[in-house]
Amino acid sequence: MLRPVRKGAAVQKPESIDFAAITATAPIAAATHGWRAKCLQRLIRLDLPVPATVALPFGAVRAIAAGQMPEAGAILAAIGKGPLVSIRPSPQNPDWGGPGTILNLGLTEARHKALVRSHGRQAADALFLRFVQTYAIHVARLDPDMFDAAEASAEAIRAALRAYEAETEEPFPQDPARQVALALRSMARAWEGTTARLLRQAKGAPANAGLGLIVQEMALGMGQGVSGSGVIQFVDSVTGERRVTGRYLSQSLARDAISKEASGALYLARDPRGPSLEEAAPGVFAELLRHGDACRTRLREEMQIEFTLENGVLRVLDALSTGRSSRATLKIAVALAEDGIIGREEAVMRVEPRALSELLHPQVDPRAPRDVFARGIAASPGAAVGRVVFSSTAAQASAARGEPCILVRRETTPEDIRGMHAASGVLTERGGMTSHAAVIARGLGLPCVVGASGLRLDGRERRLIAADGRTFSEGDLITVDGTAGEALAGAAAMLPPALGEDFRKLLHWADGFRDIGVRANADSPSDALTARDFAAEGIGLCRTEHMFFEHDRLVVMREMIFADSPADRASALERLLPMQREDFIHLFEIMKGHPVCIRLFDPPLHEFLPHSREGMQELAEALDRPLSEITRRAEALSEFNPMLGMRGVRLGVVLPEIYEMQARAIFEATIAAARRGAVVVPEIMLPLVSAVREVELIKTRIDAVAAMVRTRRGAEFDYRLGVMVETPRAALRAGDVAQHVGFLSFGTNDLTQMTYGLSRDDAGRFMSAYVQQGVFPEDPFHTLDVEGVGELLLIAAERGRQTQAGLTLSICGEHGGNPESIAFCRKAGFDYVSCSPYRVPLARLAAAQLVLAERAGAHNRRGDGESGV
Ligand code: PEP
Ligand code: MG
Repeated sequence: MLRPVRKGAAVQKPESIDFAAITATAPIAAATHGWRAKCLQRLIRLDLPVPATVALPFGAVRAIAAGQMPEAGAILAAIGKGPLVSIRPSPQNPDWGGPGTILNLGLTEARHKALVRSHGRQAADALFLRFVQTYAIHVARLDPDMFDAAEASAEAIRAALRAYEAETEEPFPQDPARQVALALRSMARAWEGTTARLLRQAKGAPANAGLGLIVQEMALGMGQGVSGSGVIQFVDSVTGERRVTGRYLSQSLARDAISKEASGALYLARDPRGPSLEEAAPGVFAELLRHGDACRTRLREEMQIEFTLENGVLRVLDALSTGRSSRATLKIAVALAEDGIIGREEAVMRVEPRALSELLHPQVDPRAPRDVFARGIAASPGAAVGRVVFSSTAAQASAARGEPCILVRRETTPEDIRGMHAASGVLTERGGMTSHAAVIARGLGLPCVVGASGLRLDGRERRLIAADGRTFSEGDLITVDGTAGEALAGAAAMLPPALGEDFRKLLHWADGFRDIGVRANADSPSDALTARDFAAEGIGLCRTEHMFFEHDRLVVMREMIFADSPADRASALERLLPMQREDFIHLFEIMKGHPVCIRLFDPPLHEFLPHSREGMQELAEALDRPLSEITRRAEALSEFNPMLGMRGVRLGVVLPEIYEMQARAIFEATIAAARRGAVVVPEIMLPLVSAVREVELIKTRIDAVAAMVRTRRGAEFDYRLGVMVETPRAALRAGDVAQHVGFLSFGTNDLTQMTYGLSRDDAGRFMSAYVQQGVFPEDPFHTLDVEGVGELLLIAAERGRQTQAGLTLSICGEHGGNPESIAFCRKAGFDYVSCSPYRVPLARLAAAQLVLAERAGAHNRRGDGESGV
């Protein structure tokens, strides 16, 4: 047992440090001895030929770090008679790192002599020199420059031993137990170091995370017969296909075979590129395959196995779950479930929802080199290669030539939508997660990096200047990696999307567990088609203003904005009506009876006006008015704070004709779609409400339009009216608002903006400084602020449902596709979340995982969890 450390004791008496030989029945657990110790025990239970191994638990390692010397003689005796040993780290979670493995402890001058006799001078010298070097650098912490001799020889060994003695003022330790004790102490202390602690905490380790240590008999991989070492895995790390990969190197140790310097390494399975272990030692190869299978079926995981051959005898030193890309994770999880090795629940739990959204788009091949010239916010996942263009016109011209392009802008505006449609990717100098570029790109499934603030855009010269001084001109090839938030010079190697059978199957399983609805934000037929392909259960937000940016409509829209009188405005709206009606018919038909929630016109009108002189001139020609009048009217429409000005329901109150036209288009489309077999109950949503009177006024007018359409068309239909809760006041007054509507949908983009008083278009400039300094734990436009904005949501939900128990509640801000926000909405009893079509798969998976995690929690609390091998 451990005794307390006696501070200031002159001589440290060896204490009895807790350790256990790993056997099939020893009490070893990942929570006390670390994942590696537990994994080795499982391999032993599978009868894999693991050399004798001893595990030191976290408490023992802590005591060693605090100054107690381990009784290494007893540890060595538990392993065998005078063994050489390795020591490996065993933290609770493999991702938490740990000090590097040290091999060949116990190698003394006497042992070296014996090795010369048994394995020949060359092999023995190489082993001993390497050991002295490793020990000097990693245990005695001496300067690596003094121990860099590459060629093993008697002289090189003598020089290394002399250097050791000169630096430490004591001879190189010749007692195996002392070597082991000091190595254990060095590794235990390395774990406590500040850098190591910060690194593992960044990966999610708790502050008090423990380290276990594994002492294992060396299997030398050197000898006269077939001897060497290798690493084998049974699936491809990038694709997840079942395929044997790895390397084997004759006369080598540990992971030498896969090191970059390894020359002469063999492939494992037969390979046209060169000789393989399968050919050299077919029996061993077959044995390895059997071990891989045993791991897969009994450990229920694809493992990578580290092995050694000593005169033809196979030893398995270590195994860890095979590293894998997102697409491989998906493929492996589905394959294990299909083979009945894991359940569907577990397969669903094994895939990280965010990783899933990477698979919807082409990706930069993780094996390929990356030449990064700018970093920003990863605003929309996937990657695209294209030629740099600096304007939407150039993007459209490039698309017309069939040349993929990347639209590079300081920031985008609604006028850029056509350019974004034409581009393969978008890169902006400014902006955050909910800036225009980010929202539109996610909607279009376009890779996008925003807020790349190190960049300088020289619009006049049509040049892009990176922080490192490199310049890119129009036409230069670049790659935008919207998953990593990086822009790369040149055309990076890409992987295609992985939307195959596995993807479909996993999401189908997920839907079986999910208990909150998932809809999509979709504004166009192509968005709706994507939403339907990803099995969205309806449209949760159709931003109708996006429908007016098509060129033919923009002109009519501008005529409407410039109308002098209600009659002129009505005439322009009369021309927009059939276009809107067609838009809605299309959406209703695509969504095949699934609910479609249409938000009435929201943005300030001046967003539709041209901003350049040429644009003004073009408008003057189209409207046959003097340019001065156009400029004057445009100026008159401009506002100091347009996002808090004449927009949303305020437009509906002040200029009722716009909403009336939209309502009529929706109702006429409902009738037309029903006649064609797509029966739908449209949902009409009012944006930016802050007072209940706004809702009363608009409701009266929309009811009147409905009555008019019913009478004129002689057809019946239903509709639902709702309010988009995106001002704090609307949230607080939700009780009143709910008297007049059937649903509330939270527009958390504007609600976050208004709750914080933080511009969603400008916050990107300082957001990273704010997050880095811990002012905000996360970008609140990206991760829902559950404390502030979340409280408003809860208040509104409670007050709304108090007034009307059956009120439908949902979220349609960008947060709707974020796993943490989905958890919040589900807990708050919302009916559905709505997000960009390309985030629908992620939301479906995240929602299912919440249910399964809850069930597993209950299961564990009942204490009836199953035990593994
Ligand atoms: C919102 O404000 O959350 C929202 C969904 O609307 P928009 O992003 O169009 O302002
Ligand atoms: Mg909004």
